Amino acid sequence: MKSRQHSPQALADFKAQVAHWAGRIRAKPRQIRIQQMRRKWASCSTNGTVSFSADVLSQPASFREYVIVHELLHLKVPNHGKLFKSLLRAYIPNYESIRPRPPLDSPVAGRTLSHGPWASSANSWSAK
Ligand SMILES: [Zn+2]
Repeated sequence: MKSRQHSPQALADFKAQVAHWAGRIRAKPRQIRIQQMRRKWASCSTNGTVSFSADVLSQPASFREYVIVHELLHLKVPNHGKLFKSLLRAYIPNYESIRPRPPLDSPVAGRTLSHGPWASSANSWSAK
C-alpha cells in the first residue's frame, strides 16, 4: 500500500491552487483543510470550511482541479441544480468526462457513492 503522506511542497501547491480558484470563482472559503477522508473526495460546510481528502493530491491535475472548483462552487450554490451545473461548465467545460484514477489499494467504487458526478445518482455529490 502506498503512503498517503504528501510533501509540504505538494500540500502548499494544492492550497495555492485552491486559493487561485477561490479568487477566480470569488468564493471565500473561511478555512481549507486537507485530511484523511475515506468516503469522500471533499466536503464543505455552511460555515465556509472546505475539506479535501488527502487522496485528491495523488490524482491527475484535471481531477484535482475539478474537485477544487466543484467544492468551492458549493460555497455559492449549495446544491447540484441547474445553476451549479452551468457555473461548473463555465469553469471546466469538460467536467462530465473527468474521472478519478482508481487507487491501487482500494476499489474506486466505494467512493463513487459519496461525492461524484461519475456515479449515476444525481444526488451523489453531497454538499456536506
Ligand atoms: Zn457537490
